[in-house]
Amino acid sequence: MIIANWKCNGSKQMIFTWFEEFVKNYISKESSYIGIAPPTIYLEYVKRIISEKSLGIKLGTQDLDAASGAMTGAISAEMILDYECNFSIVGHSERRQYFDEKNSSIKEKIHKLIDVATPILCVGETFEENKNNLIEEVISKQLRVLEGLNFQNEIVIAYEPVWAIGTGKTPLKEEVNEIHKFIKDVVQSSSINSLIPHVLYGGSVNVDNCKDFFNCEFIDGALIGGASLEGTSFANIVKSFNGSYK
Ligand code: PEP
Repeated sequence: MIIANWKCNGSKQMIFTWFEEFVKNYISKESSYIGIAPPTIYLEYVKRIISEKSLGIKLGTQDLDAASGAMTGAISAEMILDYECNFSIVGHSERRQYFDEKNSSIKEKIHKLIDVATPILCVGETFEENKNNLIEEVISKQLRVLEGLNFQNEIVIAYEPVWAIGTGKTPLKEEVNEIHKFIKDVVQSSSINSLIPHVLYGGSVNVDNCKDFFNCEFIDGALIGGASLEGTSFANIVKSFNGSYK
């Protein structure tokens, strides 16, 4: 699974060019394991192009709100269901950092979303926490938002070390692989029906380093920010993933 997180980037012109480049460079019709989370205002435009080009790319939102009604600017789980989005990113570190999101509100969002679309729950440690060997402690705490859930449907965790996002720095692939195994074990042992999640890696993934990650046993794909903003580079990452398809 390869997910593009466009964050607050783009325009209609950028999206049009993106798909022209993507289709030129990615000729396979198999695209059901690819997802795009555009800015919400462009969801309709992206949906239309995906349909016109007969692509199977999944659509998702970058966030949602647990509440609905008098919540100016919010998007509810009911709307995600109504619009047939396949997934929503939840708990991205930028939401935690700039919008002061806490695990308690992330938990409410996941609980609202679980029967509606696939949650892509982002977890990961800061640089300080990494240096203080707190990775497992921090991630275990962040994964507690899943407590009490009955996972009938798919759940995806994105391991995104905060210090690797948009910085060009990445952990070693062996370290990522080990943490992914840890995440799978924690979620499996806390889930009622022993569900093992897909675990994606996110943090400065690009065309040059993606293959290293994709070849690791417990890395099921990637959540990609910067390198997903150009159709050609994203297509090349997808092709790499295809080559090491598990
Ligand atoms: C992200 O923000 O989810 C991300 C992975 O960003 P980047 O690929 O730019 O590091």
